[in-house]
Amino acid sequence: MNKTHHINFKGTIDKFGGAVALISTPGDCAIVSRGVPRTLVMMCPDGCGETIAVNLDRRIGKAWRKYEQSNKLTIYPSVWRDTGCRAHFIIWNDQVLWCDVEDGVRIALDEKFVETVFNNLSDSQFIHFETIAESLHAIAWDVLWACNELVKRRIAQVANRTTFKRIGIRFSAMPINGRIDISV
Ligand SMILES: [Zn+2]
Repeated sequence: MNKTHHINFKGTIDKFGGAVALISTPGDCAIVSRGVPRTLVMMCPDGCGETIAVNLDRRIGKAWRKYEQSNKLTIYPSVWRDTGCRAHFIIWNDQVLWCDVEDGVRIALDEKFVETVFNNLSDSQFIHFETIAESLHAIAWDVLWACNELVKRRIAQVANRTTFKRIGIRFSAMPINGRIDISV
């Protein structure tokens, strides 16, 4: 199987079957939208040939968040198939970032953005990185990776049960549903 590292966005359409008809090669995807985005339909990017449906509609349960910046698609959190090929990947700015690589996801960080995230941390309480992303109107991945970098530099601290009461500039890197599995 050949893993692809890019998605190919084929368009937005109002019916699921129509979206499926638009995708044919690994990484192809289309969005089903009726008033609001409902589903991201994707040909599995690992080349197994299966079709993946990612729910984007919060009204019908657990939903992934879709971002579009400069016409590039990002989905949060990661997609992790619990059947079949078990592919686990992140769609970020039209790229497919594989989560099973040994070194984790490596993305060049924008130093200015890292600084902005730092300035939005609190020295008195933990803030979830998704909350920071909301207030900055930024992609949750970008904030998470910036937070990980700040931790690596030892100027931010991850919340967990044992460190929660310590003083420091902190963020919470706890995934919202256990589907994030990256180490930067
Ligand atoms: Zn697959």
